[in-house]
Amino acid sequence: MKNYKGVTTKCVHSGDLIDDKFKGATSPLYPSTSYEYLETTDDKYPRYFNTPNQLALSKKIAILENSDSALLFGSGIAAIFTSLFSFLKSGDHVLFQSSLYGGTINLVVKEFKKFNINYTFVESLEIKDFELELKTNTKIIYIESPSNPLLQVIDLKKIADLAKKNNLISIIDNTFASPINQTPIDFGIDIVLHSATKYLGGHSDILAGTVASSFSKIEKIIESSINYGGNLSDYTVWLLERSIKTLSLRVRAQNENAQKIAEYLDNNKNVDLVFYPGLKSHPQHDLSKKQMTGFGGMLSFVLKNEDKAVDFTKCLKIIKPVMSLGGVESTITSPSLTSHSKLSRDQRKKHGISDGLLRFSVGIEDYIDLENDLSQAFTNI
Ligand SMILES: *Cc1c(COP(=O)(O)O)cnc(C)c1O
Repeated sequence: MKNYKGVTTKCVHSGDLIDDKFKGATSPLYPSTSYEYLETTDDKYPRYFNTPNQLALSKKIAILENSDSALLFGSGIAAIFTSLFSFLKSGDHVLFQSSLYGGTINLVVKEFKKFNINYTFVESLEIKDFELELKTNTKIIYIESPSNPLLQVIDLKKIADLAKKNNLISIIDNTFASPINQTPIDFGIDIVLHSATKYLGGHSDILAGTVASSFSKIEKIIESSINYGGNLSDYTVWLLERSIKTLSLRVRAQNENAQKIAEYLDNNKNVDLVFYPGLKSHPQHDLSKKQMTGFGGMLSFVLKNEDKAVDFTKCLKIIKPVMSLGGVESTITSPSLTSHSKLSRDQRKKHGISDGLLRFSVGIEDYIDLENDLSQAFTNI
C-alpha cells in the first residue's frame, strides 16, 4: 500500500483495483457472482463482501476514515440496521442522540420493540446526560454529528470515552460531515456509518451505505450480514468508487459555499434562525472547530414567516426542492414533509423539527448564482 499524504490523493488513488491485464487507468469492473472454487480457500461471492470491486472500494473507505477495515451496503439504512443488529440481542438497551435522521428514528421506533430491544433518546448533547441514562443492559451509544436536520454537534471524544469506560460500542452516523470534514475513528469512536447515497456518491444517482471499523468489529458484522443480505451490487460499487475520486474537491467547494450562504441568511431580515456549525452563533462552534476540518455543505434555517416555507421553495429557480442531499446540485427540503414525514407532528416537535424549518444541501455551483436565487425568492414570497 502506497502511503498517500493528502486526502485528495487518497480519494483518487487509494484502494485502486489495478488493471494488470490491459493497464487501463481506471479500476476494471468484475460483476461476476460465480467464481471457481477448486484450488482456493476463499469462497468468492458478492454477499460475502469479498468480490474484487467490493474489496478495493472498502479499502478506499477504510483509508479515508482512518479505520482498519470497511464494508459496503445497498443503502445507508442497511448499513445502520446491520451495524446495530450485529451486536444487539433481545433484552439489550441502546442510547440514541435525539436529533437524528428521520429514517433512523423510524427504524428504532417501529422495529426495536418487535425484538424486545429497549432504547432511550437523549435530548441533551451533554455527556453527563448520556451517562445518567445508562442502564446495566446498555450495549450501544449511537450518535449523529452534525445531525440531520438541525446540525447539532456532539463531543466525539467524550462520547467515545464514555463508551469505553462502560464497555459499550460507540456508533456514529458521519453522513453530514463526510470523511473529508470529520474522521471519528481518530477520536475513539468504534463504528462509523455513511449513507453513501449522499456525499460519497455525490451525484444523486447512487443508493449505498458504508461501515468503517476495526478488523474485529467488521468480522462480527460480516458474520451477521451474510444472513441479513443488503450488499451493494458490484456495478454500483464501481460507480461509487469513481464518484469518490472527486469527493474532496466537491466537499471543499460545498464547505466554502455553505459558509457564505449561512452568513448571507444569518444577515437576512426574512430569516429567524440559521443552524450551521461554521457560524460563530452556533452553540457548538468551538467544538466543531476542534473535531471537524471543515463545517460541511449542510445547513438549515427557519423563515420568520413559518407559513411561507413551502412557497419559498417553490420560488427558487436554481436550488431544487428535492428530497435527498449531498449532490453537486443545491437542493432544499422541508424536513416535516420529507425526511421526518413518517413521524407524527408531536414526535417531530420532540425532535426539534418545526414546520417552517428548511434544510439546505449546498452544491458546487458558483456562489453568486445561489445568493441571487435566494434573494429573488425572498423578494417574490
Ligand atoms: C439519507 C441518510 C440516511 C439513510 O441513508 P439511505 O442511503 O437513504 O438508506 C442515514 N443517515 C443520514 C444522516 C442520512 O442523511
